[in-house]
Order: sequence, then structure tokens, then C-alpha cells
Amino acid sequence: MQRLGTESAFEVLAQAKRLEAQGRSVVHLEIGEPDFATPPHIVAAAEAAIEDGYTHYTPAGGIPAVREGVAAHYARRLGMDVEPGEVILTPGSKNILMFALMSLVEEGEEVILPDPGYPIYASLTSFLGAVPRTLPLREANEFRLDPEELASLITSKTRLIILNTPHNPTGGILTEDNLKDVARLAVEHDLWVLADEIYSQIAYGDAVPSIASLPGMKERTIVMDGLSKAYAMCGWRLGIGVAPAELVRQMETLMINSSSCATAFIQVATLTALDSPESEGSVARMREEYQRRRDVVVEGLNQIPGVHCHTPGGAFYVFPNVSATGIPERELASALLAEAGVATLAGTAFGEMGKGFLRLSYANSIPQLQEGLSRIARYLEARAA
Ligand code: PLP
Repeated sequence: MQRLGTESAFEVLAQAKRLEAQGRSVVHLEIGEPDFATPPHIVAAAEAAIEDGYTHYTPAGGIPAVREGVAAHYARRLGMDVEPGEVILTPGSKNILMFALMSLVEEGEEVILPDPGYPIYASLTSFLGAVPRTLPLREANEFRLDPEELASLITSKTRLIILNTPHNPTGGILTEDNLKDVARLAVEHDLWVLADEIYSQIAYGDAVPSIASLPGMKERTIVMDGLSKAYAMCGWRLGIGVAPAELVRQMETLMINSSSCATAFIQVATLTALDSPESEGSVARMREEYQRRRDVVVEGLNQIPGVHCHTPGGAFYVFPNVSATGIPERELASALLAEAGVATLAGTAFGEMGKGFLRLSYANSIPQLQEGLSRIARYLEARAA
């Protein structure tokens, strides 16, 4: 248990809620959760599924008809063949990560993961007795990976590379050339790739293909996705994995030994979320709103002395560089919460490369974002005076 880490977003959220319970006002820029309501047609589909009796156990990998629909959806989205047996539904995408690591990685083997990066990658890798090897993502490179640096980390013990695009915490996006470089290295060294694509529908530029669709990659890639972010369904807990059938069978065994199955009526609503015309509209409207918010936040941050912020291409996070304020990021994040009433995360909650950065989630309304920005600006101004 001592090797397990945590996600400080949940801890800071709890701290912020405690302050609010004492009557303090807090602007929430910490948690990576859409502030939109789940689109009503998806809620209606889940209600109808309950009425229709989808309230029992299902097969561990998912209801066969749902797996078929999900496979057809991902075949279209990823641009490759996907069979129902290559799809698994779990209670949240974190399970896909955990099951893939448990299935593929032995003690002492190495997993290459992004730094900064989603903290659960390193936490679960260490928990299983494997070794996280961190791949730096640098601001100067728009938080993209450097293929030569990736190549230099590969050893005879490397088993898996974890990619995340669009990226938490920086909002960075890997280019098609980046993905081709990773694919070439993965094939050459016979490695697995876990592609965390949970933010793939929250990207503001041209579509970038999934690494799974590149030549030689389908048989060595686990696509990790879910409904949480694109459909504003974090609390429903529905993760989707697309992976080779043999690995999916192992994940099903892990499901039998843990949750048994994803919630039956939510599986049924998954088909509505993925494949109804209303969903396309809802996802596009939320994406447009996130883009407006991104522009407000990036512009606002860049006007604050001592802060500069790269414009991210996706997800709903910004990763401003605050090193010129002279205040260490952990101290600044704590002070902003305690003294200015703004909840943010220290960049180092995502790895050593987060030194000198904060992470802000802009999954909040524009008035709240503006209030948060002016509180940060006022705090820094007063502190500099
Ligand atoms: N992957 C990344 C990069 C995330 O940021 C998150 C949630 O914050 C997840 C996975 C987990 O999502 P889920 O709600 O599907 O477990």
C-alpha cells in the first residue's frame, strides 16, 4: 500500500469543500470534471433501461449487443476493424489502466510514462512492483514527447509505453509524426502501448489519428477511453477498452474477480451516448464552450506578471508557468487556496517536470474563471508589493 500514490485533485477538492463549509468562497479550478449536466437524452436512455429491467449482472466484458455496438463505433472512430471481443466495458477507464498493467507487466519490468502526467500511471506501476520510467514533456516543445528521448529510455526491461493525448495536465496534443515515431519504436522493440484517449473528443484543432490505427499497432495497443469527459458523465463510471482479444479475455477475468461487470443500465445508455445524433450536438457544444473558456483563461493568465501560459490544443486544462513569480508551485497552490480562495493544483502533483507550474482546470463557467483569474492576479500583486 505504501507504493500507491494518489490524485491530489481529490484531496484539494476536499480541502476546498471544508473551507466552503466554513463559509469561505472558493473558485474551483482543481478538479478535472465537466461542469455541464449529462445530456438529457442519455439520462432518458438510462432511465428507460432501468424500466426495461437492465438491473442485473451482465457478462463480465459487457452485454453482447452493447459490445457489438461499441465495437462498431470504435471501428469507425479509430478507422480499423474492431470485433466485439476486442472491446471491454468497465466501471471507469481507470480500470482499463489497472487491468492492462496487471495483465502485461511483471515485477521489475519498466513502464515509460509521461512527466508531467496523470499521477495514476506511476502510482499503479509502482504498486505492481514495476518501475516507472518518466518521459519528460517540455513547455518549449509544447508539452510533446521527444522521440529521441523516448528511444533513450527503452531498455531490455521495457514492456509498455503510456501515451495520453490530449494530455492531462498540460492540454498538449501529440502530432501524427509523434505517434508514428512511437509506433516505430514500439514495433522495433516489441512493446505494448497504452493510449489514454479519454480527452480525444475535446480537441480544438485537426483530428489526429489514434496510434492503434497505425501499421503494426493494433495488436500491441490498448485504447483507454470512457464516457466521463466528453459526455459529462464522470459519476456514471463507464470505461471502454479496445485491445487484442486475448488481453480483453484477461481483463474479463480481472472484472470477474473485482466489479463483476459495469452497471447494466449504464452499459445500455452507453450506446445512446456514443451513437445518437443528439450526442454529436452535445459533444460539439461542450467542446466549443471549452474552447471559449480556454481562450479566456490563457489570455487572462498571460496578463498576470510572473505568469505565462502556453495555449493548449485540447482537454480542459492549462499548465501555466509560474516560476517567474519566485514562489514555489506547492506554496503558491496552497496560498491561493487558503488566502485567495482559488483551488488549483501544483504542477509537481503530476511529476518532477511540473516544477514551476500550476494546473488549472477550466471546466467551470466563464464568470467563475474570470473571478478566479482576478483573485490570482490580486494575490500575486499584493504579495509582490
Ligand atoms: N485518464 C486521464 C488522463 C484522466 O485525466 C482521467 C480523469 O481525470 C482518467 C483517465 C480517469 O477517467 P475515468 O473517469 O474514466 O476513470
